[in-house]
Amino acid sequence: MEITVWQAAAKGAPLERSKATLLDPGPDEVLLEVLHCGLCHSDLSMLENAWGVSTYPLVPGHEVVGRVAAVGAGVDSGLLGTTQGLGWIAGSCRHCDWCLGGNANLCPSLEASVVGRHGGFASHVMAHQDWIVPIPDGVSPADAGPLFCGGITVFAPLFDEAVSPTARVAVIGIGGLGHLALQFARAWGCEVTALTTSLAKADEARRLGAHRVMALSELGSHPGAFDLVINTSNHALDWPVLIASLAPLGRLHQLGVPLNPLQIPAFPLIAGRRSVTGSPTSSPASLRRMVEFCARHGIAPLVEHLPMAEINTAIARLHQGDVRYRFVLDGPA
Ligand SMILES: [Zn+2]
Ligand SMILES: [Zn+2]
Repeated sequence: MEITVWQAAAKGAPLERSKATLLDPGPDEVLLEVLHCGLCHSDLSMLENAWGVSTYPLVPGHEVVGRVAAVGAGVDSGLLGTTQGLGWIAGSCRHCDWCLGGNANLCPSLEASVVGRHGGFASHVMAHQDWIVPIPDGVSPADAGPLFCGGITVFAPLFDEAVSPTARVAVIGIGGLGHLALQFARAWGCEVTALTTSLAKADEARRLGAHRVMALSELGSHPGAFDLVINTSNHALDWPVLIASLAPLGRLHQLGVPLNPLQIPAFPLIAGRRSVTGSPTSSPASLRRMVEFCARHGIAPLVEHLPMAEINTAIARLHQGDVRYRFVLDGPA
């Protein structure tokens, strides 16, 4: 079938509306008609080929909310017409140790939604049935897209790591990821601190769930303050001070990707059994638990809607950091 896509012809090129051909869904595949798609920083990285995995023409978009328009063999036809979410991962092998162990997001042959295939800035997108996520009552489909990449990225450090509700959690960065991390950590029951370079966002951080807001520059005066620091920032930080802010058994969870390697002193890791971790989105089961958790606690991304035809405006403004906190582009493409 012929579909509409918004594609970049080459590295750094603007997106242009174009046509593409999509085969019918194969076994275990689902075709989604795109209703809404969030714009994530990873889309910018893909457009710039920052990770060396981009192929052009490139159709970005991996925070999709869509309606099931067709299903392949082996897929329950009852899914037709339902509204589903789709994030960074669109398929996995289903039979490696990681898939069988419930960690399909660690599958060595997983298929990313925007690597070697059309993403969600399109009229339609294809996914493996394991990776679509039903949207429960209480979650607005129009605003839900950013949950499926940004949301799960910050839910995983709490849920997948079984963080205690008594934990003292700090979130660095109040942006696309951080504004959701604050909401999740608060609903989790944790004591929540927002760490920011811009205290101008302090009131908003409190509304999002922070018990207190602290300038990053003050961190040095708070050794041992946190059991978990979720770092959404891409910037180089004072790593020794950050590690010193962890309590014994504390953990720095890295989600932002700074340009240079992290310079971490070894002794505080040894003496206090502190650790540094990271995670890539999460499993299909965690995605489902996440949206249920959002419905129960009224957690939602704060989004700015634009029609999909204004995708290049959204990209330009995201480059400048001019969005609170996520763009959602609305179909039809
Ligand atoms: Zn696998
Ligand atoms: Zn993303």
